[in-house]
Amino acid sequence: MTSTPRSVENGLVVTIEYTLWDDEGTLIDSSNGQDPLIILQGYGELLPRLEEALRGMAVGEEVEVVLEAADAYGEHDPEAYTLIPHDEIPPDVDMELGMELYLEDESTGEVFEAYVTEMRPEGVVLDFNHPLAGETLRFQMKVIKLRLATAEELAHGHSHSNNHHHE
Ligand code: ZN
Repeated sequence: MTSTPRSVENGLVVTIEYTLWDDEGTLIDSSNGQDPLIILQGYGELLPRLEEALRGMAVGEEVEVVLEAADAYGEHDPEAYTLIPHDEIPPDVDMELGMELYLEDESTGEVFEAYVTEMRPEGVVLDFNHPLAGETLRFQMKVIKLRLATAEELAHGHSHSNNHHHE
């Protein structure tokens, strides 16, 4: 059997402390004061450019990555807005400004995430852009732990940790 892994490679579970800022230096998210991120490297749990940056890093090492919008959550698409008339909204759904919705395309089963951006007399306007679309983002990441993935984690393609929401 392999001993404790020395540096990040695909198929290892990596515990990461991170901080994320936009290009104005505004803090967007941080593991500071909360649980670190635990990911299975190489299985798309992180943006591809972040996995790339982590590859080969040892425990205790830090890296800073600046991602253009296209490498992060995409450019802002001015076409990605849809007006949903009130009579198409199920009566048990209470629409609120800023509310996050998951909509399923009934023909493909694909799930889209959208945000209520405007309430109009004729309906509500949904924005299908990711909230961080169009943003250049700066990630600071520090590897704090490495371990081999379990067979189950590899089969599922994600890490299992205490806060993992299992399906
Ligand atoms: Zn799982």
